[in-house]
Amino acid sequence: MGPVAKTGRILSGMRPTGRMHLGNYVGALENWVRLQNEGWRNYHMVADWHMLTTGYEDTSRLQDDIYDMVLDWLGAGLDPEKSVIFIQSEVKEHAELHLLLSMLVSKARLERIPTLKEQIRDLNLDEQTISYGHLGYSVLQAADILLYKPTHVPVGDDQVPHVELTRELARRFNFVYCQDRPPVFVEPEAALTAFARLRGLDGNRMSKSVGNTILLTDTPEEIVRKVRQAYTDPKKARATDPGRPEADLTELDAEGRPVHPGCVVYEYHRKFNPEGAADIAARCRAGTLPCVPDKKDLGQRLSDALAPIRERRERYAADPDRVRDIVAEGNRRAREVAAATLAEVREAMRLKVPWLEGR
Ligand code: SF4
Repeated sequence: MGPVAKTGRILSGMRPTGRMHLGNYVGALENWVRLQNEGWRNYHMVADWHMLTTGYEDTSRLQDDIYDMVLDWLGAGLDPEKSVIFIQSEVKEHAELHLLLSMLVSKARLERIPTLKEQIRDLNLDEQTISYGHLGYSVLQAADILLYKPTHVPVGDDQVPHVELTRELARRFNFVYCQDRPPVFVEPEAALTAFARLRGLDGNRMSKSVGNTILLTDTPEEIVRKVRQAYTDPKKARATDPGRPEADLTELDAEGRPVHPGCVVYEYHRKFNPEGAADIAARCRAGTLPCVPDKKDLGQRLSDALAPIRERRERYAADPDRVRDIVAEGNRRAREVAAATLAEVREAMRLKVPWLEGR
């Protein structure tokens, strides 16, 4: 997220996929922690209902994955005194608002959401058999967001269309039900994460299932071993060959993408060694920097950067009662805000039943 002059309130969550990797850290967690420490009011949701949209059959690992993810959030520096950490399914208001908002959006509008199309393509799904819940997951996401009335939603560029839908639903609701009263919903702004994407070590999209990630819990030895296998410049066969740290735009494939998309090691240097990255690129191009020591150097830097996260996580892992208390308190605080918003929603929609009050 670029510099924002003021502070506000953010809502951001993740599907519980278990242990977090470097991409989760760079694309989200690091930013959450920074905002929290700048005085923003942070709400962070474990989006367990969202897991069901693409994986409802097998929930055997779900609770372990939630726990692992929360430990990684705490390890990364989310401070439960400053940030509310909660589990979506523990706050039933998300389901009710999802239902109510689902009346305000057409099926065609949901089918146009680009990330849904991508999921259908990536998971090789049949568009005709996609579930009702999956089709509407962006409405659930809008409900997740609007309940907390955040001013901003930190997202990567691929999630911007979801924030757009959220804003549309907020506007639609306010227009339909709040003509004679103050609007219930705030239209949140998408706040783009500055370093949203880090490629996997093999140069492809980072994914745990592919095994091209560095986990926040990896030991220094594992990190060094993984970085040793990272994708570099295939043309730099010998230590003294000049390399191409950045993408080579002179050689494109049939779809117009560079055949050599840039060295992953250099990409990681730019993130974790910003002062040294220009010098590394210059020496690489000049053929005076061999890959082996450069990878060793990066492995050490990553290991140093992750050490405080690993240590903090270990302290929380050794105290499961504390972790339970943190999440229980987060659920309670989230419920308080969500219930207040939903009371406004029900009133605006005339769903409150006045003649039953006191019964
Ligand atoms: S020297 Fe470093 S930046 Fe250059 S190709 Fe090798 S690993 Fe990549």
